[in-house]
Amino acid sequence: MKLAIISDIHANLQALEAVIDHASSENVDQFICLGDIVGYGPQPMECTRIIQDLNCPTVRGNHDHEVAGNGSLDTLHQDAQASLTWTRKILTDPQRAWLGALPYVRRVGRFSIAHATPHRSNLFGYVHDLADADRCLQEQATPLCFIGHTHVPGFFEHTQGVTHEIDSSYCTLSEVSKYLCNVGSVGQPRDSDIRASYVIFDRTSRVIQRHRVVYDVEKTQDLLRLAGLPASLAERLVDVA
Ligand code: ZN
Repeated sequence: MKLAIISDIHANLQALEAVIDHASSENVDQFICLGDIVGYGPQPMECTRIIQDLNCPTVRGNHDHEVAGNGSLDTLHQDAQASLTWTRKILTDPQRAWLGALPYVRRVGRFSIAHATPHRSNLFGYVHDLADADRCLQEQATPLCFIGHTHVPGFFEHTQGVTHEIDSSYCTLSEVSKYLCNVGSVGQPRDSDIRASYVIFDRTSRVIQRHRVVYDVEKTQDLLRLAGLPASLAERLVDVA
């Protein structure tokens, strides 16, 4: 049983399709989506429809939450404000309602999924470093939790009272440890690699493997410009700093 866990698609259809194709070539049985399906990118309708059609366990991201609501976006960064205002207009009412009805956290078999943190998931806090990961793992009720939100992939292991980061593209789960796995971002990576990021969890071998997938960045950038969205959103897709 192989699961593809994807997050932070951010309305980037080219990246989403490339990841789905890649996962299919790896014979994945099921998808799981950790939210932020929309926001920043130029194709929110198409991406929402694809995730709906995958009919997979999905949780709500902060962008999904903001798009679904009608609240003020004044406190957000300018780019996010422009993008979310535009996305609210583009999506259909049923799509916005669907995004707004997604749960913040969900149990899938023996593990859990959340967009940002496994506890107090509705606050959308960030796991930026070892101390953040340690706080999560102390409270984590399941042996394994998958998250996204920072757009930076990483594996954190809590064993014998100590949390450490696993510096590898894969992680073999031990029965005696707890794990927090950030799967990275499909549609807007923020580490030093512009390729789409996701993981495959092989439940039989208990291995989680991270994958990076090339997609047509220029096409997404062209569509952002055509939509009249801020130029910084197109630049950010190739900003590896
Ligand atoms: Zn995000």
